[in-house]
Amino acid sequence: MLDCAIIGGGPAGLTAGLYTTRGGLENVTMYEKGMPGGQITQSSEIENYPGVTGEITGMDLMIPWPEQCQKFGLKHDMVEVKRVSKDGDIFKIHRADGKVDEARSVIIGTGSSPRRAGFKGENEFFGKGVSTCATCDGFFYKRKEVAVVGGGDTALEEALYLAKICAKVYLIHRRDTFRSAPNTVARIKRTENIELVLNSVPDEVYGDKMGVTGLRVKNNNGEMRDIAVPGVFTFVGNDVNNQTLIQEDGSFLCDMNESGEVIVDITMKTSVPGLYATGDMRINAPKQVVCAAGDGAVAALQAISYVDELLNH
Ligand code: FAD
Ligand code: NAP
Repeated sequence: MLDCAIIGGGPAGLTAGLYTTRGGLENVTMYEKGMPGGQITQSSEIENYPGVTGEITGMDLMIPWPEQCQKFGLKHDMVEVKRVSKDGDIFKIHRADGKVDEARSVIIGTGSSPRRAGFKGENEFFGKGVSTCATCDGFFYKRKEVAVVGGGDTALEEALYLAKICAKVYLIHRRDTFRSAPNTVARIKRTENIELVLNSVPDEVYGDKMGVTGLRVKNNNGEMRDIAVPGVFTFVGNDVNNQTLIQEDGSFLCDMNESGEVIVDITMKTSVPGLYATGDMRINAPKQVVCAAGDGAVAALQAISYVDELLNH
């Protein structure tokens, strides 16, 4: 029986692993289907993790994290978790290899996945000029021109953010009306260095070994236009990785909001005792490494108290 099962080995899960083991829980396993580190390992540069100066990649940042956890006894099972269920006080961890483990508490941090728009070159240049995170990567294009793809709240808000840093923002949207809030649309329209490229979709992003050099867009009449930019930001929606919380009858194990994010309080408690949700998958997540790590620490401290209460009272 595990004291705590941690699902996901991104910044949230790894920090939860560090704090649970170092805080005295004896038997803690982190389930990570790939290499630990999470989605930040796709980033070619991170410069907003406090205390980390110099040019480092997301991979560089994350490499020491598992080693630090293992020192305190965190076990890592490289296996996908299909489902988490609860029977009385005991959580069941249904693994992709068919085994079922048992745990007294669960910290889930399976993250989120930005949707890809699906144009040519998008995957090839992802992290090398194509980005889904303006807060993270916008600064690399200071006083340069960039393209933003999408017409929802995220795309428009991020375009406004980028317009403060960059010389010019081309906002590419496949229709001529936006699904964003009207006041945001109004702000976009009065921002002088944002050019609207409407009724258009990206056809191809291209570049060289150094990264992106341009984006070719196609309008509704089939006409092509080349926009010379070193950065392309796509905001075409986001999917929370909440599949492990779906029960056999199709319901969720705990309360979720309408976007599929886990509802938590400020201590990362969900509606199910002993289950904590952290990082990008929880409501109101700022979607930053430092925040995901903070969530992992908060949830771990809660899990330690919960298990102590369960065993001793
Ligand atoms: P994730 O990092 O998504 O980790 C979740 C982990 O769970 C993954 O490793 C996944 O493999 C695993 N997993 C999922 N489902 C299962 C399952 N069923 N079973 C087992 N394992 C599972 N943030 C910053 O602060 N600064 C930046 O500069 C920055 N740049 C970014 C650049 C890019 C290109 C991207 C994509 C993101 C960037 N971010 C940045 C955002 C940051 O990466 C995320 O906010 C952060 O990684 C979220 O951490 P997490 O632990 O919640 O989830
Ligand atoms: P979203 O609302 O789903 O918008 C996605 C946008 O991307 C849409 O404009 C869509 O076009 C476009 N798109 C989708 N697939 C595409 C493709 N393959 N190629 C080109 N364009 C594509 O996603 P979001 O903006 O991330 O917002 C998600 C939710 O969070 C929404 O409910 C939003 O209101 C909310 N949110 C709120 C705030 C806020 O309140 N301040 C901020 C951010 C997000 P179409 O419009 O043509 O479908």
